[in-house]
Amino acid sequence: MRDLEILTETDKEALELPRTSVEENNNTGKRKLYIESYGCQMNFSDSEIVTSILQEGGYATTANFENADVILLNTCAIRENAEQKVRNRLNNFGYLKKKRPDLVVGVLGCMAERLKTKFLEEEKIVDVVAGPDAYRDLPNLLNEAEDGQKAINVFLSKEETYADISPVRLNSNGVTAFVSIMRGCDNMCSFCVVPFTRGRERSRDPYSIIKECQDLLDNGFKEVTLLGQNVDSYKWTSAELPSHKGEGSGGEVENVNFAQLLEKVALISPDLRIRFSTSHPKDITDEVLYTMKKYDNICKYIHLPAQSGNSRILKLMNRTYDREWYINRIDAIRNILGEDCGISQDMITGFCSETEEEHQDTLSLMEYVKYDYGYMFAYSERPGTPAAKKLADDIPADVKQKRLAEIIDLQLKLSLERNDRHVGKVQKVLVEGFSKRSEDFLQGRNDQNKVVIFPKENYKKGDYVMVEIQSCSTATLKGEAVKS
Ligand code: SF4
Repeated sequence: MRDLEILTETDKEALELPRTSVEENNNTGKRKLYIESYGCQMNFSDSEIVTSILQEGGYATTANFENADVILLNTCAIRENAEQKVRNRLNNFGYLKKKRPDLVVGVLGCMAERLKTKFLEEEKIVDVVAGPDAYRDLPNLLNEAEDGQKAINVFLSKEETYADISPVRLNSNGVTAFVSIMRGCDNMCSFCVVPFTRGRERSRDPYSIIKECQDLLDNGFKEVTLLGQNVDSYKWTSAELPSHKGEGSGGEVENVNFAQLLEKVALISPDLRIRFSTSHPKDITDEVLYTMKKYDNICKYIHLPAQSGNSRILKLMNRTYDREWYINRIDAIRNILGEDCGISQDMITGFCSETEEEHQDTLSLMEYVKYDYGYMFAYSERPGTPAAKKLADDIPADVKQKRLAEIIDLQLKLSLERNDRHVGKVQKVLVEGFSKRSEDFLQGRNDQNKVVIFPKENYKKGDYVMVEIQSCSTATLKGEAVKS
């Protein structure tokens, strides 16, 4: 699960500021929806599905919550401070609700699923609570709320993938988009709330994924990121399709795993760049790595959370692999995709009973892998998780912070080392827009998912540009366009 520390600039921006709905034209007479999203990319993508369902139901989006008839917060429960942010935000809307009692306020996502009816008890301003699998029911829930009732649906499904719903791209740069390929997670990492808030794993029909990617390409997008809590366990079979069940059905059953899905998407067009997130060390196969090697348009970058470098701690975390297995996967990536393949990490420091030596194992693993960047946090106990039930959160806060500072400092050093490898080399960059500092410069990403900034010349958003890298910082590469 993703988080924030050593991030590229745009990631930082995305994660710190909640994403909100945009102003929709010709919205006269329609009820206005304002949606604000917190947390991970999965949540942002879900807000695009929610917007699509409600637009279908006659709502128009607004970027200004003062004008909204319905305010929805898509919440995150990954850490205590993520939930506190949502509670503070709800307080902000208190004055508005007093002024306009017909205003409907709803909460979606992981915190809604974790708290369920408690949310209605604890936050009086909330009228609607909907979990990640209940978004098709939102038009009904909002109708109930408009009739003055409190409405809730936190049913977790084993089938729901929203495969037939075309997301409405919110805050889109018109070049890159996220495409969810599966929902839920069957791993039970002891520190994680996701299995309880997003339910069991289910993989989406690959042909609906290919159609969504083709539609994006036809609408000018140039890059898709295939999204899932653990993309490596993507597994779809046509045997589940109604056409394969019951009397007289039959025909060849098709099974599609993640490597095969990657290949199907890569074959859509060489101009469509493909990324994916998040991988799991236990499940990432050599077949996936060879498929990445086979297609230039599959970016050579892997986000491979480790969480710890020590096998005893990994066992307590129930990560289902140990240090040696993780290193074996890293060696496979380096052998098959080469030293330049970008690798990023997730690390949790100060987990229950972690000793100083075990913390040193995390540092030495980082030295061994030489990550390009990472998302690092001190352990935050989450109610209801196996760790909260069975393990004492016994590492003092100051020790957690000291260890967190050490791994951040090390990652800063490694990021600079890894970025320095690009200096003097020519990189293929997909332009996403102007740099934040000046419209004389453009910014985009290279294959390794790093932000590259260069003078605009006659290039524009959506162009693939060959850029010679001339300098770097821990988070950014700078250079000049060269003729290809
Ligand atoms: S793989 Fe583990 S950390 Fe990631 S979402 Fe699943 S349970 Fe949570």
